[in-house]
Amino acid sequence: MRIVPCQCPDCGRDLTGLDNDRVFVCSTCALALHFLHEGDMLRYPVRFAKTLEKNRESIMYMPFWMYRVKLDLSCKDNRKLKNALRTAPQTVYLNAFKMHGFSLYGNPGLSLTALQPTLIWEDNPQFMAGCRRTEASAKNSLSHVILAVIDRHEDVTGLDMSLEIEETTLIGVPFLDQQDKLRDAVTGGEYLSLAFDDLALYRSLRRRLNRR
Ligand SMILES: [Zn+2]
Repeated sequence: MRIVPCQCPDCGRDLTGLDNDRVFVCSTCALALHFLHEGDMLRYPVRFAKTLEKNRESIMYMPFWMYRVKLDLSCKDNRKLKNALRTAPQTVYLNAFKMHGFSLYGNPGLSLTALQPTLIWEDNPQFMAGCRRTEASAKNSLSHVILAVIDRHEDVTGLDMSLEIEETTLIGVPFLDQQDKLRDAVTGGEYLSLAFDDLALYRSLRRRLNRR
């Protein structure tokens, strides 16, 4: 774990992250920053989903890339096209943290995308780290996730799709840390802690910040 020697260009606050983080969140400005070479940076707005969970101490915000997309679907089979249009997600959530064994442990981004929850946003930005996947890398799995969600209802063979991204945001989804597992406080989905690559580091960073 390290305190990364980089600062928010807007407010000057030191940004804190984990060793392998690629994107850092300023919890004053609600801004996500991906520092590139020679002082260049990519900026994304950050929002945090609200939870009714009272036990704030146990809440960890996990980062997701959220895309509002406009889809253009076509298919020779009209019935199939109708079903695909009905079930296609308008908002796609891709894990920005590192996780392994999706087939074994589940995929939180895919579950959120399948559920299409109406999220309510926190007024105040929260602390969040663990954003190891850049937006450019996440974007590569957009089509795959959309088709996987449609495929739960309708076989996607023969379906053509093009998509346009209308909005990209980094969002924090509250997870309840139950030691051996994390529970998504939005969908209720439970995931074994061992599936999250940087969880031990994230926990110890949070403990350190809470002690300050
Ligand atoms: Zn800032």
